[in-house]
Amino acid sequence: MENINEVKSLLAVPKDIVITTHRNPDGDAIGSSLGLKHYLEMLGHTVKVAVPSESPNFLNWMPGANQILIYDLQQEAVKRVLEKPDIVFCLDFNSLERIDKMGELIAPLKAKKILIDHHLFPEPFYDYDLHDDTVSSTSELVFDFISLLGDKSKINKTIAECLFTGILTDTGSFKYSTSPKLFRLVADLVELGADDTKIQDLVFNSMDEKHLRLIGLVLNERMEVLDEYRTAIITLTKQDYEKFQISRGDTEGLVNFLLQMKNIIMAAFIHEQPTITKISLRSKGDFSVQEIARKHFKGGGHKNASGGYSYIGLRPTVSKFKQILPEYQEALLNNDL
Ligand code: 5GP
Ligand code: MN
Repeated sequence: MENINEVKSLLAVPKDIVITTHRNPDGDAIGSSLGLKHYLEMLGHTVKVAVPSESPNFLNWMPGANQILIYDLQQEAVKRVLEKPDIVFCLDFNSLERIDKMGELIAPLKAKKILIDHHLFPEPFYDYDLHDDTVSSTSELVFDFISLLGDKSKINKTIAECLFTGILTDTGSFKYSTSPKLFRLVADLVELGADDTKIQDLVFNSMDEKHLRLIGLVLNERMEVLDEYRTAIITLTKQDYEKFQISRGDTEGLVNFLLQMKNIIMAAFIHEQPTITKISLRSKGDFSVQEIARKHFKGGGHKNASGGYSYIGLRPTVSKFKQILPEYQEALLNNDL
């Protein structure tokens, strides 16, 4: 961040601050937002977190999670907090499109917009940014942001646990996007009070029986393996959502199961939502799914985790995905881990 001193003086007197993050907020989106919220409140600011849509239940335990405003459910309340904030922090997304209608409310605001994000190719809608697409997570960057402001010593157990959760989920339990710097930072978080065992349990062992059975069913009945492309796909139609009684959060993390197969390099989860067909892509090693999401599915993301959507319906989207595979066959077959 080049203008850290300007940001520091902005934050020197109490301000009305809104923190927002991307639609379908995940552990990093919520963890970084709440971690930053608790820090800013400690400085004396008035802080509201407002997000486009609901987050999965396994994040509900996080301190402050129950005060998050959700545009899908509380439009008027979100509009009210976005009337005249002094500062808007935009966390874990790189383009206002990623926050749907809230983007249209935020774009014209006079408020200073501060981006903290680790996605590739951010669009320049902000006044200040702490952006690095090589780090694990936005939560890592929030830690860096607080440190840059000279306040590392202010990080307490609550902040540490929020940031730990974001890092834990965005690295798939420290499996990817790690670095020596990250492990040192995580050691700091544990020293500052983050209970890593408790958090792993709250985040990963929170399934109810129905959910676990559902995953078994979906893997058994809706998985397709394309060995010649080292690719596996799960597809879910609107009817599947009804037939199997799947609710939105149930499919969180589903795509990652596919990468547990030996030799599978790319995983796709393609499913129908009320108006769009959504595609989630994951990969291993050097094979980048970012380009596929960006070029073919109006999306983007990271090298190993990207997503996009289409308006052409489920079957045509699956066909389109399969049709582009030959273009990537060589890269898929030659990918070393
Ligand atoms: P997920 O598959 O979990 O929905 O998303 C994985 C990653 O892909 C997200 O962190 C985000 O970076 C990116 N992503 C998902 N959907 C979209 C989209 O519609 N547009 C863009 N630009 N990125 C997306
Ligand atoms: Mn993230």
